[in-house]
Amino acid sequence: MPNIDLHCHSTISDGVLSPGELVARAAGNGVDILALTDHDDCEGLLEARDAAAAHGIGFLNGVEISVTWRGKTLHIVGLDIDPENAELKGGLESIREGRAMRARRIAEGLSKAGIPGSLEGAYAFASNKNLIGRTHFARYLVEQGYAKDIQGVFKKYLVNGRPGHVQHQWAELQHAVGWIKNSGGIAVIAHPGRYELSSGALKSLIMEFREAGGLGIEVVTASHTLDMALRFCDLARRFDLFASLGSDFHSPLESRMDVGRLPPLPSGCRPILEALH
Ligand code: AMP
Ligand code: MN
Ligand code: MN
Ligand code: MN
Repeated sequence: MPNIDLHCHSTISDGVLSPGELVARAAGNGVDILALTDHDDCEGLLEARDAAAAHGIGFLNGVEISVTWRGKTLHIVGLDIDPENAELKGGLESIREGRAMRARRIAEGLSKAGIPGSLEGAYAFASNKNLIGRTHFARYLVEQGYAKDIQGVFKKYLVNGRPGHVQHQWAELQHAVGWIKNSGGIAVIAHPGRYELSSGALKSLIMEFREAGGLGIEVVTASHTLDMALRFCDLARRFDLFASLGSDFHSPLESRMDVGRLPPLPSGCRPILEALH
């Protein structure tokens, strides 16, 4: 069985390893096929592809697009996309502009709660100044001693009801799936177990996603337990979706699952690679 990891992050978004360092780590961990899927940005793909060639491992262009669906934030992974596609590029650029505006509002909220300087602080943790996210705020707040770890910061400051939380409108589901599809890629619902959707809502999401041209769903990922993997394997089969797998690795110290260190896909669901060939 080849070692496949189709979801991870570099310093182009909220990971801590450069694309080259990430690929080196993946190769060291025995990965045969890797996709780099930074949030809303494709700038790391060329460096990662070169590094993958140098290490003799397979590589797929990827991205993880932020979407708002029925008021909830969802993530849609695009695999084997064309990062030069104009429509995709423009869509991602507008999401990044939204991130910059959101960051200012997050900082205002934190400032009102007695935490000054967080905008500059977060940007100091962002290697790519075009892509600012909550993780960069979280790293700054840990550094400043407001919580002992990233999870602690999210809980105390960045989730719904907390001072650094702001409502934000990301891309439409249909748009994100369309950008991926029209650039030649395959759209995948990322970590479905994280959204706390009722089974009815999950079914509607899958219907709309399929209608828009989406083909895959993550079954194995760091935020899924074995039970969840089995459940989403079954769901993938019932809704005729391809099953994807990825560590969602961000950092050696922060992530629960290392790149390339995933449990296997449960049997019975169709591996996403079949859709990619
Ligand atoms: P953003 O897209 O800027 O809203 O940030 C979302 C990212 O924050 C995710 O991709 C994770 O990397 C991270 N994240 C979200 N929730 C948590 C959490 N509860 N604990 C740690 N990291 C989180
Ligand atoms: Mn992230
Ligand atoms: Mn995600
Ligand atoms: Mn991710």
